Amino acid sequence: MKKEIRPTNKTKFIFITGGVLSSLGKGLAAAAIGALLESRGLSITFQKLDPYINVDPGTMNPFQHGEVYVTDDGAETDLDLGHYERYTSAVLGQKNNYTSGRIYHTVITKERRGEYLGGTVQVIPHVTDEIKKAILQLDGDYDVAIIEIGGTIGDIEGLPFIEAIRQFRLDVGKENSIFIHVTWVPFIKTACEFKTKPTQHSVKELLAIGIQPDILLCRTEKQLTRELKEKISLFCNVPTDAVITAQDVKSIYEVPLCFNREGLDDKILKLLNVWTGSPKLEAWQELVYRIQHPTSKVIIAIIGKYVDLTESYKSLHEALVHGGVANDAHVELRYVSAEDLENQDAETLLAGCHGILVPGGFGQRGVEGKVRAINYAREKKVPFFGICLGMQLAVVEYARNVLGWKDADSNEFSLETAHPVIYLMKEWFDYRTNKLQVRDETSEMGGTLRLGAYPCRMIKDTFAWEAYGKEEALERHRHRYEFNPKFREELEAKGLVISGVSPDNTLVEIVEIKDHPWYLGCQFHPEFKSRPMAPHPLFREFIKAALGHSSK
Ligand code: GLN
Repeated sequence: MKKEIRPTNKTKFIFITGGVLSSLGKGLAAAAIGALLESRGLSITFQKLDPYINVDPGTMNPFQHGEVYVTDDGAETDLDLGHYERYTSAVLGQKNNYTSGRIYHTVITKERRGEYLGGTVQVIPHVTDEIKKAILQLDGDYDVAIIEIGGTIGDIEGLPFIEAIRQFRLDVGKENSIFIHVTWVPFIKTACEFKTKPTQHSVKELLAIGIQPDILLCRTEKQLTRELKEKISLFCNVPTDAVITAQDVKSIYEVPLCFNREGLDDKILKLLNVWTGSPKLEAWQELVYRIQHPTSKVIIAIIGKYVDLTESYKSLHEALVHGGVANDAHVELRYVSAEDLENQDAETLLAGCHGILVPGGFGQRGVEGKVRAINYAREKKVPFFGICLGMQLAVVEYARNVLGWKDADSNEFSLETAHPVIYLMKEWFDYRTNKLQVRDETSEMGGTLRLGAYPCRMIKDTFAWEAYGKEEALERHRHRYEFNPKFREELEAKGLVISGVSPDNTLVEIVEIKDHPWYLGCQFHPEFKSRPMAPHPLFREFIKAALGHSSK
């Protein structure tokens, strides 16, 4: 058993934990550290270990959990993987996100198979060994692996993970692994003072489990003074130069530069005994400059169900920011409730918006409101971008109002319709697993989605072709329903343009219309592939069209 989990000593490990409270931006901190190390020429990877019991976040409500981020290999993962991929060139997948549920699932399956030979199966060592094995999957291929533990120190569910990383350091040695603890140093306005007590308590809690943090990343409103750092250093047993201010910033893309100014990357490399050149941060500096100095502004309406929770649309939000950067524009987002659009005037709700975006989604709620927004965008010639469900509803809207099929719908919402323009494909060939996938309306939710990267071929002389400037692109999917080929000819005859298809031309991936400034719907989620330094072409073009509309 021990042999299986022995490290190669090729990869250095950084473990990031969080204290005091959640939402301190641990994920962003991990991503920013990755960006800094990559800027020094190191190869990096990430892993997120989530203590909750769900096997993966795929079936979790975005209200509670935020967006489900999809990787090229079709893993449904925590949204922090989105930050990691956006900040670096890391390509992540199944092995980069583990939950307690997934770990326990493996342990229990092994137990049922009799693999523990009748032994008593326990958290230590069986669950912790399984966690260490998951971490060691990253060993060998990268210079540095950054591992973020979800939740906050003190959470009951988190304990096996913390115990596993404590053991892990013992296995790989001090020079090969460090612990970074992200904590909170509140500024109490009435006392006009920073308070270090929550940090002290949080570090105590870590020490009780046997972990002495090497670096403290202190989230604060303002820069910590030398005296404060000394105080934290004294109480938490961490050298002063390892107490780092992680000050609030306007744009999340400033974080790598702030950390670098605080000397964080130097400190990490010293502790890990890694020698590199100085970081090349010009691209980050330019990005931040462009974000801070836009020359124009556009207002984009996002027609959504989860209008109160922008976490549900994290990647979408960022992709729009990137599209803005590409056009030197500040993008102001206006979340419009799809349900409000069902009973209020679209003209009033969408007034002043320069572009309308209908994002992906599941379920009936708000669907008719989304169709109204699409109808408004098409007829009033407001730039329109439909993503996944947004694309499907654009097809429904077109079928209803241009072809006059009043009952046209997606089978997700109506099984009776005579015009199921969006339907459930019963069989399709999954080129990644080389298997024919089969499903019907009664299939379980998990496991029946088209997930991950699939190639899309662009058709010439379309918005899609113009945006991509190339024939083929790999785009990420997460949906169950598809454009119904039965109605393709009739829809095309009446002006619906099919501008992106699967290489064998069986799946419709992008639709658009002519005589419109910009109107495009795609079956995939381009937001997952957008990067600040390489904005996704569809977002770039959408914002460009919206800018054109704003100057009318
Ligand atoms: N609900 C639709 C489907 O399953 C769209 C999914 C999505 O927008 N991600 O096909």
